[in-house]
Amino acid sequence: MSLLPLIPAPEPLGNNVVEFLQQLPGPCCMYLPGRDSSRCRFVVTLLHGNEPSGSEAIFRLLQQPQQPVCDLYLAIMNVRAALTEPLFTYRQLPGMRDLNRCFRPPHADPEGQLANALMTLIHETRPEALIDLHNTSGNGPAFGVAVHLDSRHDALVSLFTERLIITDLRLGALMEMSERDVPTVTVECGGAQEEESHQIAFDGLQRFFTQENLFDLSEAPWPIEVLHNPVRLELTEDLRFSYSAARRSSDQLTLRVDIEHFNFGVVTPDTVLGWCDEEAATQLRIRNAGADVPLAEWFSTDGGELRPVRPLKLFMITARPDIARSDCLLYAVRCRL
Ligand SMILES: [Zn+2]
Repeated sequence: MSLLPLIPAPEPLGNNVVEFLQQLPGPCCMYLPGRDSSRCRFVVTLLHGNEPSGSEAIFRLLQQPQQPVCDLYLAIMNVRAALTEPLFTYRQLPGMRDLNRCFRPPHADPEGQLANALMTLIHETRPEALIDLHNTSGNGPAFGVAVHLDSRHDALVSLFTERLIITDLRLGALMEMSERDVPTVTVECGGAQEEESHQIAFDGLQRFFTQENLFDLSEAPWPIEVLHNPVRLELTEDLRFSYSAARRSSDQLTLRVDIEHFNFGVVTPDTVLGWCDEEAATQLRIRNAGADVPLAEWFSTDGGELRPVRPLKLFMITARPDIARSDCLLYAVRCRL
């Protein structure tokens, strides 16, 4: 059997998204015939098992009798991680690689092979657009991410949200590779626990299923704010850190417990993001598309306080220590006040 079997939507669907996922054979791709079978569109979701909005939205859309405007492929990926108790907690199962870092060759291990099977299916089906639905690990507003800026990507993002980040970071994510075949946008629907995130995914997918011309910007319900080339703030493996309302002397870095509130707000050199000792400053890494950049170009640790050195917009800030350590603490772009 293929690593990513092509199946019809399960019948019956189940009473909720968990029952729906339990009926799937594992990672799979659902095929829905549309009115116009000469073209198709592609949706990917659940690359991260702790990000339910995409599968929740698909479950709700499948309950509607409406036939999509053209053929649709809906790939639901890390079903096993999502259904491992506690449900929707594991980004990937312990000992496995982050699936959305596996799209770049080599594809030797099981995660790489699954990622490659998805890439092959996308290549063969030749969709006119691809949406990859995620949630942020912290709370905050929704936004889109793409590796390429043009009016088509603008239009795809505007189905869901009014913010688009154009990134030149290369991490082995799906959109970096699929862009060769199809205009691709990753949508971060907002926090995984928030009903509003599920609604954003649902409303956007409904437009994706039904809008005759996806690339007609005159249909866009809002103007798009575009942010360019973020950097990542990463923590080294042995940094001792925590989240708290005040400095904890037992830790090298204490991050503000409410740090997620800065998502998409502007922070300035007046903003204290946390407290650290001198050694912590050597264990924070800023990474851009090319390589590591000196921390001092972005953040200061003078006086034991972590502050931006210039006005920045921060996003994808996480308050989950495991994700801060294994992926990154936040992304940042320079901005004007
Ligand atoms: Zn994700």
